[in-house]
Amino acid sequence: MDIITVKDKSFKPYISAEELQSSVEKLAAQINHDYKGNTPLFIGVLNGSFMFFGDLLKSINLECTVSFVKLTSYEGVSTTGVVNELIGLNEDISGRDIILIEDIVDTGNTLVKLYEILEEKNPKSIKIATLLYKPEAYNKSHNIDYVGKEIPNAFVLGYGLDYDGLGRNLSSIYVLNE
Ligand code: 5GP
Repeated sequence: MDIITVKDKSFKPYISAEELQSSVEKLAAQINHDYKGNTPLFIGVLNGSFMFFGDLLKSINLECTVSFVKLTSYEGVSTTGVVNELIGLNEDISGRDIILIEDIVDTGNTLVKLYEILEEKNPKSIKIATLLYKPEAYNKSHNIDYVGKEIPNAFVLGYGLDYDGLGRNLSSIYVLNE
C-alpha cells in the first residue's frame, strides 16, 4: 500500500484489509457466543459503519434483524442549543436486544446520545460494538462492549470512514500523514 492524497491531505497505510478482516471475525465470534439462542437487532450508525457492518454481519450466525440509523444535529430554538434527532428507525425496539454498530468511537458524544435516545424506547438491552476506539479521546463513562481495535488519537480514513466525504470506499485504513 502506498501513501495516498485525498483533497489537500496525505494519508499513509495504517490497518491492512487482512488485519481488519481478522478483527471483524473476532468480534463476530464473541457476539455469536454472547447472543447464542437470542435474536438481536443490529443497528448500524450511518454513514461510517456501512462497510464494517456488512463484513461483520457476514460472520454472524445468529437469527437476527438489521436496521440503520443516522444521528442528525440541528440548532434548536433560542436556549435549547444543539438538538440531536435519530432518523431511520421505524421498527418497535421495545423488548429487543440491541447491538449498536459504530465505525469509530472518539469523544463518545455520538455513542452517548444514541444510547440515550434508544434507551427511551425500552429495549431489553443495548450493547455497543465499534471497529475502532480512541481511548485517549474518549471522555465518557459508558462501557464499550466490543472493540475491534484501539488506536491512538489520530485521524483515520477508509473502510467507511471519510475525509470530507471522500475515501469511504477504501478497503483498508489510512492515517493522516503529518
Ligand atoms: P465522537 O462522537 O465519538 O467524538 O465521534 C464519532 C464520529 O466522529 C464517528 O462516527 C466518525 O464519523 C467521526 N470520527 C471520529 N474520529 C474520526 C477519525 O479519525 N476519522 C474519521 N474519518 N472520522 C472520525
